[in-house]
Amino acid sequence: MFLRSDIGLDQAGGTSARSFGRAPAPPKPLTLIDRIQDRFPDFDPAPDLGSRIGSIEWFRGVATCAGLITVTLLLSPGFERPIHGAVTAPLTGTEWEDARSQSISALAYGATTGMRGEASGLVRPLADTPERPILELTAVVGAGRRFASALERAGVGAGDASRVADLVAGAIDPTDIKAGTRVDVTLGRRASRNQARPLEKLAFRARFDLAVEVARVDGGLSLIEIPIAVDHTPLRIRGRVGSSLYRTARAAGAPAKAVEAFIKSIATKVPMSRIGANDEFDLIVERQRAATGEEQLGKLLFAGLDQGRREVQLVRWEREGRTMWYDPKGMGERTEGMLMPAQGRLSSSFGYRTHPVLGFRRLHKGMDIAAPTGTPIRAATDGTVQFAGRNGGYGNYVRISHSGGLQTAYGHMSRISVRSGTRVTRGQVIGAVGSTGMSTGPHLHYELWKNGQAVNPRSVSLSSTDRLTGGELNRFRGLVSSLLGTPVAGTAKATSENDAEE
Ligand SMILES: [Zn+2]
Repeated sequence: MFLRSDIGLDQAGGTSARSFGRAPAPPKPLTLIDRIQDRFPDFDPAPDLGSRIGSIEWFRGVATCAGLITVTLLLSPGFERPIHGAVTAPLTGTEWEDARSQSISALAYGATTGMRGEASGLVRPLADTPERPILELTAVVGAGRRFASALERAGVGAGDASRVADLVAGAIDPTDIKAGTRVDVTLGRRASRNQARPLEKLAFRARFDLAVEVARVDGGLSLIEIPIAVDHTPLRIRGRVGSSLYRTARAAGAPAKAVEAFIKSIATKVPMSRIGANDEFDLIVERQRAATGEEQLGKLLFAGLDQGRREVQLVRWEREGRTMWYDPKGMGERTEGMLMPAQGRLSSSFGYRTHPVLGFRRLHKGMDIAAPTGTPIRAATDGTVQFAGRNGGYGNYVRISHSGGLQTAYGHMSRISVRSGTRVTRGQVIGAVGSTGMSTGPHLHYELWKNGQAVNPRSVSLSSTDRLTGGELNRFRGLVSSLLGTPVAGTAKATSENDAEE
């Protein structure tokens, strides 16, 4: 803090002390303030409020200060209202457009991407654009489309396209080329714009194990086959079931379809509700790995579930065109007996009886099931139709031979829907109930024969286990040992002791 008297008020009189060593400055003309100060030398309009506190002069200073503050507050526009500075005049018309093209803002807020200048007189349109010397394209083979037409769509000339298609057809079966196959095509320089570019090179993956290249050599097209080595080692995944067998197996890399097949086949042996989180699953899936790095996963080959006290192992085996599951010893599914071939009331059972039409006692070689005409008749179990047609007192009659020296026969049918030699499966409809032949009303006469002897259909418990035998069993064993030798691709609980067991 400094005193006012240090700087200003004694300026008028005290210059001699300040301008030490200099010529005294000529006296300035007196201003109004100077004159007031001359008149009232003791009057200080701004007394020092830090000194002589409580004096009259101090109170006057406080009052002046408070007055000045009050005036300032009264003159202020208020705290809530902003004080505006000067604003540039907004741009209009072309000025605005010019400025806008220089601005940077989001396109959504109307930014432009620059201005387009008018072409000057120096600009002349091109008479002819130069062509690219080489065009590289990709053609995609569409479903049900000829190979040649796929190439033509991509821009290959009709002549070249059909020549390539012939070359390809000569090397591989065109049906092997999957829809969606991409063909890399290189087209070369042409003499004029009115003709198609000549095909220079073409390459595609014809099959998983074969790449094909067609190149122009000395003016003619020639095809080169590039075989790709494929490794057929299946994929084996083993791990703890955890919270969800499906999710765990999927996370370990098994394809969805294989996991579904796994669950379906395991479910025939172990109810899903009995599979615990600590059970270990073992799953082997067909896999093809090309030397070029692609991988294809296929069908489920092996399904295993180790529950500690119980172990289920199922191996896929194709038999007579059907997929069957066998345990590693070659034992298949148990067939659950024979079906009742028609729904109805048992009106007469197997045994000696007085014949309702002939009137004398004789052996009734089957059972009668009374049912309305038209009720479907189903094959009792899998087999081959041996006879289908008219057969004396039996009326319309079908005889089916089954494995294990068994035959079933169905009589008095109103309709036959199979022919001799047809393979039928358990439950397949073979005709309908009727009253043809020696019959007193609509019913099915059903017979079961075992090794040439008619037996009571009710007496035979037909649950039998399908098992592989002979050469087929040997081939099956070979498959099992190669499958179980598959290395585990790696999941959480693939311990070394387990590997040593197998
Ligand atoms: Zn009968």
